[in-house]
Amino acid sequence: MTKANQQIILASRPKGMPTDENFRMIEQPVPQANEGEVLIRTLYLSVDPYMRGRMNDRKSYIPPFQINEVVTGGVVGEVIESNDPDFKEGDIVLGTLGWQKYSVAKGKHVRKINTDIAPITTSLGVLGMPGLTAYFGLLDIGQPKAGETVVVSGAAGAVGMVVGQIAKIKGCRVVGIAGSGEKNKYLVDDLGFDAAINYKTTSNLKTALAEACPNGVDIYFDNVGGSISDAVMSLLNNKARIPLCGQIALYNLEKVDTGPRIQSQLLVTSSLMKGYIVSDYSDRFGEGISQLAEWVSEGRLKYKENIVEGLENTVNAFLGLFTGENLGKQLVKVADPSLSK
Ligand code: NDP
Repeated sequence: MTKANQQIILASRPKGMPTDENFRMIEQPVPQANEGEVLIRTLYLSVDPYMRGRMNDRKSYIPPFQINEVVTGGVVGEVIESNDPDFKEGDIVLGTLGWQKYSVAKGKHVRKINTDIAPITTSLGVLGMPGLTAYFGLLDIGQPKAGETVVVSGAAGAVGMVVGQIAKIKGCRVVGIAGSGEKNKYLVDDLGFDAAINYKTTSNLKTALAEACPNGVDIYFDNVGGSISDAVMSLLNNKARIPLCGQIALYNLEKVDTGPRIQSQLLVTSSLMKGYIVSDYSDRFGEGISQLAEWVSEGRLKYKENIVEGLENTVNAFLGLFTGENLGKQLVKVADPSLSK
């Protein structure tokens, strides 16, 4: 049987908010696995906000996507052919592969997933890159102490909901900021956040935050930037910490956005703001995954995934990150495993 490899390529660089026209679905022959390589059938793929930055032709911590090339990102897949003795058909693996049905990778570039610990989707979410981003940003930079107040923006997304729950495990008061009533209800009722604010409907975010944080803000976990972050800055306590994780509110701006200058605020409160990329902590990923997995198995860390079906719906799922369609980690299901037990 001849199988075709459907792939989504970057057709043009987005200006502002990406559209369907920036992407194209094409078909190629299924690639061959050579010596030391495995052929992987995509089961789930991850769409992530950072991918928007890679669509610009700009120097960053990771090279830009190239026009007419497959969009690459996190994939959980099934080995369907192996020319690497460390892998066998049916193994479930995690890798930075792509928006396509089949990929070939060197065995050393993918990691086998232990399917007994949790559903395989979690290796792209709570037990994967987003969970690790939350874990290291909050614990290493945020240094939460019991009784402190933690504010997290983008609170109902993949990173944000893990941040809030770890902060609760550490005994903090947790206030989330997210863009819908349904999301905020979930944060408070299901995840135990102390309060959650809908930044889209509140008439004055600063006042709402001041009410929700009567003792000020000790940690602001910044996932979004822009005017939401401006509103938090005036509430910083002395020696506040700001893990600077993401700036999604700015990713689609076509002109540089100048907000209030916050350096004085950081100065007079002796606060620490620190940017980081999760890969800064790659030598500690094992520690992070095992702690996150322990909390998940104890029921102290819940996770939610927003799964759409079909490779053809990948672009819409990606665009939805910028309009807040997702509650929890956004994934695309491409296929069911066919070989694994
Ligand atoms: P999410 O699952 O949180 O999805 C993105 C969410 O951002 C949307 O659901 C939406 O929720 C919110 N959002 C979109 N546009 C805006 C806007 N203009 N203003 C405010 N909120 C907005 O994504 P992730 O959890 O994967 O990522 C969260 C952040 O962390 C991103 O900024 C990402 O780039 C960053 N990140 C950084 C990493 C690092 O290594 N530093 C690694 C991984 C992620 P809502 O309905 O609330 O608006």
